[in-house]
Amino acid sequence: MLITLKEAATKLQAANKILITAHIQPDGDAIGSTLAMLQMLRAMGKSAQVFIDDNIPKNLQSLPHFEEIRRPTEGEHFDADLLLILDTSPDRIGNVRKMTDAPILNVDHHVTNKGDGYKLYVESKAAATCEIVFKLARELGTTITLDIATCLYTGIARDTGFFKFSNTRAETLAIAAELVTYGVIPNSISEQMESKSLAEVIGLRDALNSLKMFYGGKVAGMFLSLEMMKKFDSTEGFIDEIRVIEGVEVAFLIIEKAEKFCRVRMRSRGVDVASIAANFGGGGHIRAAGCTLYTTLDEAEKILVEAIGKAL
Ligand code: 5GP
Ligand code: MN
Repeated sequence: MLITLKEAATKLQAANKILITAHIQPDGDAIGSTLAMLQMLRAMGKSAQVFIDDNIPKNLQSLPHFEEIRRPTEGEHFDADLLLILDTSPDRIGNVRKMTDAPILNVDHHVTNKGDGYKLYVESKAAATCEIVFKLARELGTTITLDIATCLYTGIARDTGFFKFSNTRAETLAIAAELVTYGVIPNSISEQMESKSLAEVIGLRDALNSLKMFYGGKVAGMFLSLEMMKKFDSTEGFIDEIRVIEGVEVAFLIIEKAEKFCRVRMRSRGVDVASIAANFGGGGHIRAAGCTLYTTLDEAEKILVEAIGKAL
């Protein structure tokens, strides 16, 4: 069920013990929005805790209050009166879903999130969930401290590719500018976010070596096998290196994470990759989406290239 921003704020005001979570394979927006909400809710006198059912990328570990994020242990239960899910629909939060039966409040910016069976405030024009959390802070009357601003700025910067993707609007820049007035230093956040280990850069070299072109140059793909993935874990930004190739309409990266478990990342210049991902049980945005293919790397390539071909 779709609700308004005001209704979402009312739900937060009424709650006392809030379990906050976001998607597995968390990114800057997922972690930035949960940590900002954690601080906002505590400032309102609520008891709140963040659980994420995954490892947190190293680049995000310097965010304020990062150390308070917990990963649920086997069968762990959490006493909450509200489950606040940010930056994803409830199907991508791993075992956090089993921690409580509390009603769900979902705040998200993904077009593929429809709110079937739970209360959802979705703003698909928002570049990041952090933009919506900023508006919630306004609605709730919470003070935006430097720590909160740092979390929100990080999420917005990350999801807009540092303010260069098509989701960057005047409002996005206005919010970011306001966050800077609270003391955020843009270049120090970019430097922190964009730093890579040597292993990651070698991984990027391996990925670029695997580059293949399809459909007369309209589609570019890269492949990382299980063997290659043993040396590093983050592939953040890899796909951006090939989405810029002249004439490319869709770029993809297939990462073999385990046997018959391939993660797919897609980017486009207009082709609706969210629908392609949704057909495989994934989702995202029109120009940036992802899904999982439960098959071998070779088979995943065949299936995906065919699906992209149909969408071109
Ligand atoms: P990325 O390639 O940056 O991991 O993902 C691009 C976009 O697609 C992000 O907004 C991300 O949340 C979304 N996305 C990626 N994988 C999945 C998936 O398996 N399911 C859903 N629903 N969304 C995904
Ligand atoms: Mn996001």
